[in-house]
Amino acid sequence: MKSILVVEDEAKIAQIARDYLEHAGYTVTVAYDGTSALEIVRRQAPDLMILDLGLPGMDGLDVTRALRRTDAAKGYDIPIIMLTARGDESDKLVGLALGADDYMVKPFSPKELVARVRAVLRRSEAPAPATNDIRVGDLIIDIPRMKVSVAGVPLDLTHTEFELLATMARQPGRIFTRAQLLDAARGVSFESYERAIDAHIKNLRRKLEPNPNEPRYILTVYGVGYKFMDKG
Ligand code: CA
Repeated sequence: MKSILVVEDEAKIAQIARDYLEHAGYTVTVAYDGTSALEIVRRQAPDLMILDLGLPGMDGLDVTRALRRTDAAKGYDIPIIMLTARGDESDKLVGLALGADDYMVKPFSPKELVARVRAVLRRSEAPAPATNDIRVGDLIIDIPRMKVSVAGVPLDLTHTEFELLATMARQPGRIFTRAQLLDAARGVSFESYERAIDAHIKNLRRKLEPNPNEPRYILTVYGVGYKFMDKG
């Protein structure tokens, strides 16, 4: 049975989340502040964390930072779904940049929350591809050879375009901010502006998409960045 940690100081919201998640078959622990959330993560290693950004003392972003810092050392990477107050766009962006897997705006539908939990758990469990090829529809990405083809026709991609495409396609459905994509392309080129990513994405789409105006493979997430099409 998968265990979920709900971190939310508003008892009513925590209770609703607990009820729905337990009903869906998950084991649920609730923490009402960031410090005890971190303790529970260390002690119980839950499978996923639902994290409210607005917490007393250490807030949700602090919790994420603390986790992502220690994660690297422990090789432990708990998926996080963030809860944000309506209209808190900058928090959402920072949260995603820090490595949250998904976010929901309050007030949220508890059914939708359960659906997101399922989706994030499914994604985090997906085994690394056995081969070095990524195949989606007509698109084949040959990672070691750095070759890409659509319907058997090889594409002529730049090194940066290849890195961006491969980075996104390795985690279908995951949202990448421009800053994360810039990171992925680092070592390849040194453009310092996130807008440079938009230009690369545009070029990639022109080469890859049957109709670049209605992209199938690389989707825009408005206000955040891009993602590769979800297999589901
Ligand atoms: Ca709160």
